[in-house]
Amino acid sequence: MRRFSISLLAAVAAIAAPIASAQLPTPKTTDLGSGIHVIFGQGGNIGVSTGPDGAFVIDDQYQQSAAANLAKVEALAGGAPKYLVNTHWHADHAGGNATFAKAGTMIFAQENVRKRLTGAVASPGLDGKPSPAAPAPAWPVITFIDGVDFHLNDETIRVFHVSPAHTDGDSMVWFVEPNILHMGDLFFNGIFPVIDLGSGGSVRGYLTVMKETYAKIDDKTQLIPGHGDMGTKADLAKQIAMLEGAINAVDKHVKAGDSLAKTVAAKPLKPWEKYAWSYIPADSFTTTLYNGLKK
Ligand SMILES: [Zn+2]
Repeated sequence: MRRFSISLLAAVAAIAAPIASAQLPTPKTTDLGSGIHVIFGQGGNIGVSTGPDGAFVIDDQYQQSAAANLAKVEALAGGAPKYLVNTHWHADHAGGNATFAKAGTMIFAQENVRKRLTGAVASPGLDGKPSPAAPAPAWPVITFIDGVDFHLNDETIRVFHVSPAHTDGDSMVWFVEPNILHMGDLFFNGIFPVIDLGSGGSVRGYLTVMKETYAKIDDKTQLIPGHGDMGTKADLAKQIAMLEGAINAVDKHVKAGDSLAKTVAAKPLKPWEKYAWSYIPADSFTTTLYNGLKK
């Protein structure tokens, strides 16, 4: 689990500060069948669909690891990818856009992703300062509002936007026939999630979207989380139970009129301690839940 601790340093604070490549873990690739692969490692998990019509990619991690990831995709697909979708705007998912665009890849995203990458809509980082705009080559060239379907490699690839949750521009990508769902950062498998309130995210919205997803999938669905290892419907159920329990525990304090300091001091997330990790310790997640519920 700790292998992606570096990856989220920039996720909320926006555009990644340079991280020495020596600090980054070696990416590994897993074959899910039906021409679909996942590249794990240096940021958000990358999904790749390969086949005779060309490659389709989900997310591209950090700018500084983009060349290595592009090479990895080219090795899997036999050439540069044709299409790429950003699940959201964070730099550990969209930071490699410019490198892929230069290789000829067409980048798609929900319209709010482009607004945040161009700087048209400010996204305050943890320090409260607005994130700088990404360079123009990194901006998605095709945007959608609710979703878009791709028909490639004998598969339907359904990209759909969800209501505000991790940010206000989240999409998931559903490989319909092979029953594989890339959940973007709507699924942190086994650890506290990032809920980016500064980018239009919502605590209750996050739980709602997880529950809606749970209702749509079945026991055979392979879930690609934004962070963490591959998951199943049962893993998603555990994550939903954790988040619902944690929300209820913090909401008691909000409803009682407790201050943030008093709430954090009461350690309401004690029962879910094992979900804490280097980037999101329990106190930090308590703070996010408190601020989100208080809104
Ligand atoms: Zn994210």
